[in-house]
Amino acid sequence: MFEGPVQRLIDELARLPGVGRKSAQRLTFHLLNTEEVDARRLAQAIVDLREQVRLCRRCFNVTAEEECAICRDLRRDTTVLCVVERAQDIVVVERTQEFRGRYHVLGGHLSPIDGIGPDQLKLAELERRIPTEGIKELIIATNPTLEGDTTAMWIARKVKDLGVTVTRLASGLPVGGDLDYADEITLGRALKGRMEIPTGQ
Ligand SMILES: [Zn+2]
Repeated sequence: MFEGPVQRLIDELARLPGVGRKSAQRLTFHLLNTEEVDARRLAQAIVDLREQVRLCRRCFNVTAEEECAICRDLRRDTTVLCVVERAQDIVVVERTQEFRGRYHVLGGHLSPIDGIGPDQLKLAELERRIPTEGIKELIIATNPTLEGDTTAMWIARKVKDLGVTVTRLASGLPVGGDLDYADEITLGRALKGRMEIPTGQ
């Protein structure tokens, strides 16, 4: 439709989630008409994202440092871990202001049908953290979906002999969706009302 760089940017933007061809076109012409310095800042932010961001060596949150800001924060309770599927879920839990411990990002959920088993997630790393960091409680905040529940149960069984309490967010969360479908009040309530996962021992 258009030629050269104009069409190229439209094509690239249209590949992003939630951006249709019309929006891609509108954004492209907006950038064409904007101040050059603003367009360059956007381009640089994308380059920096890919060059500087890595995973926290402790919890696998995204960070530009060795350890993320939450792990470096000395005021956090180091004996409680909130286990989430994705780094974005940390923001959701933080918004509730009900949690003062640290996190562990699994990198997804167990899903045999998609070929995602325990080895594809940061589960061995989680297990190692329990004795080395003296973890007393794991709050499993995987998504309220079948896969999220399966993952929570798998973790509870796996760590049951390590002397750690494993809890799951209380019900009341919208079932079948992502954690971030819940508003902070609902999620805060689910955190407060968390219940121990029975492992049948
Ligand atoms: Zn971290």
